[in-house]
Amino acid sequence: MNIVRTGVLTLTLVLLLASCGLTRPASRDVQGADTFEDDLRTARTLTESFWTDFFDQQGMTYRPIANFIPYSGKSGPVCGGEPSVPNNAFYCPEGHFIAYDRSWMESLWNDMGDGAVYVIIPHEFGHAVQSQLRTGFELNVQAELQADCYAGGTLSALVRSGSLRADPGDEDELLLSLEAAGDPTDDWLNPAAHGTAEQRQSAFADGYDDGVPAC
Ligand SMILES: [Zn+2]
Repeated sequence: MNIVRTGVLTLTLVLLLASCGLTRPASRDVQGADTFEDDLRTARTLTESFWTDFFDQQGMTYRPIANFIPYSGKSGPVCGGEPSVPNNAFYCPEGHFIAYDRSWMESLWNDMGDGAVYVIIPHEFGHAVQSQLRTGFELNVQAELQADCYAGGTLSALVRSGSLRADPGDEDELLLSLEAAGDPTDDWLNPAAHGTAEQRQSAFADGYDDGVPAC
């Protein structure tokens, strides 16, 4: 992920927020007393329970990930013959696991708040869902934006059901996280493309507003 921050994007975020009715997303503890580990565990557990129910409603069975692997720097698991890279989180279809650079994730959590965890983890689970649904995309960016949409749909469902409670300021955290994860340029053909900050926020908002079936 590329870290890009500009004031202009922040303004876009606020506008998007107003238009999607995302007033108070995603954190469990109003006092902000959750630890980083609590948030990681909560994000994983609630996201999987959401998808388990969702698959169930469709007459399908969700297959929980096989492993949730913290790593450090370059010491992460290999996926498809490719080594893990620092400052990243990813889903690996071979082995059906999610891995994340723990200290990178924790620094996002420290710098941006718990919203970072509640965007990144549901996004990676979105890829696990794509793999189970055998969703095929022509371009990588389409898969990435759908995973953002899935993350938005997951979080709104969890907030609506009361499984997650929002703290004041969470909205900014969530949107900042997406802003920080945007590509610096709009290069859809790049096999590593994830979408610009605006595209990612918009995909997230689509899911948040209309639920995962809209993704
Ligand atoms: Zn992704």
